[in-house]
Amino acid sequence: MRRLRRIKILATLGPASSDVAMIRKLFEAGADVFRINMSHTSHDKMRELVKAIRSVESSYGRPIGILVDLQGPKLRVGMFGGGAIQLNNGATFVLDSSKEPGDATRVQLPHPEILSALKVGDALLLDDGKVRLICEEASPERAVTRVVIGGKMSDRKGVSLPDTDLPVSAMTPKDRADLEAALETGIDWVALSFVQRAEDVSEAKRMIRGRAAVMAKIEKPQAIDRLPEILEVADALMVARGDLGVELPLERVPSLQKQMTRMARRAGKPVVVATQMLESMITSPVPTRAEVSDVATAVYEGADAIMLSAESAAGKFPVEAVSTMNRIGEEVERDPIYRGVVTAQRPDPEETAGDAIAGAARQIAETLDLSAIICWTSSGSTALRVARERPKPPVVAITPNIGTGRKLSVVWGVHCVVAEDAHDQDDMVDRAGSISFRDGFAKAGQRVIIVAGVPLGTPGATNMVRIAYVGPGDA
Ligand code: PGA
Ligand code: MN
Repeated sequence: MRRLRRIKILATLGPASSDVAMIRKLFEAGADVFRINMSHTSHDKMRELVKAIRSVESSYGRPIGILVDLQGPKLRVGMFGGGAIQLNNGATFVLDSSKEPGDATRVQLPHPEILSALKVGDALLLDDGKVRLICEEASPERAVTRVVIGGKMSDRKGVSLPDTDLPVSAMTPKDRADLEAALETGIDWVALSFVQRAEDVSEAKRMIRGRAAVMAKIEKPQAIDRLPEILEVADALMVARGDLGVELPLERVPSLQKQMTRMARRAGKPVVVATQMLESMITSPVPTRAEVSDVATAVYEGADAIMLSAESAAGKFPVEAVSTMNRIGEEVERDPIYRGVVTAQRPDPEETAGDAIAGAARQIAETLDLSAIICWTSSGSTALRVARERPKPPVVAITPNIGTGRKLSVVWGVHCVVAEDAHDQDDMVDRAGSISFRDGFAKAGQRVIIVAGVPLGTPGATNMVRIAYVGPGDA
């Protein structure tokens, strides 16, 4: 089975998509990676989902990626005594450390470190930005605020602090427990929510010890200011437009999306565009024109992947949402303008043998109109550098390592095949031909280009290109 598009699709699993039959349908419709959101999933359910995904994977013999998304330090207010309250514009409202039930004048903010970090003039956004407060008096016990945009408030609503550098790690005790449980089941990617600094990513990596790759969700202004350092340590980025659009003015989200996509492409690290891509499909079998245009924009930008959240997790039309994304991806990539746009943004190779070879392989393949670029890769780095070139011919990654195949499932244009390592160069050429033929990338008599590091199995040592015919023996 091969996909006819280069951009990948991530589908979040949830109540609308939690059994094997539905996961199979989503995979068939085009989902390349499944996301398990630990904000809403128990450990038992997570293990059940992983098992279901792995059974679909083995019945198709195609690696499928699993991304476990950790909730992160989501801040919330405490409880109110008598249900919801109304906050009026211009009123004074106090957030303090007292556990006493709240009322229209005050409520607990059960995070002492946040009360200490708040400064006069900082904004506080409650309930996804529906209510806005400005801090007028700050002390470690209480913050006196002015209501700038009023509204209803009730128990445990979320609090965002776009102006405050929070002295908290991106991982809470719940995240650590979720992470351990997820790593035990052998997942491929971990997404970290509310990353503020590179150290948040390094801290997670120290716990993960190579057992999964790390995707930094960019959804805080503090992370935007430190993108280069974060990208340096993270394995991938997610443009988490949901919280990003709460913490920053909504109109800044499109340019930030472009900035992050380009930066990640330049680094050769995957970037996922997420949230509200097909939001109306939660309740409708067809999307709005604006949503179709939004998905198409991410495709034209050359993003590695686009993501569905509630559309596939809790909506009425999960399969339709995946197949809609699939169709948009295929259609945009057929447009000649797409090639032009993606090529115009191609970054220069870095000064490494791997990049020089990836660039040369792309050029040779395009000049000779070869059928595919075949990467023999153990760690996945050769395939990542070739994908960074966004070449016109398809990219096939052959790896002996199932974990590498699964991780690469989020990467632009990479068709992953898990196969035993080649014995020697002739075997490598033969098997590149037969796999290209079998998976529909080349016919007998056509040529492919092979990129590898020989001797095989030395990660990061890309040093070989070879043009090879797909022989009639492969048919
Ligand atoms: P979430 O992250 O769905 O976990 O909040 C994505 C986002 O904020 O866009
Ligand atoms: Mn978020």
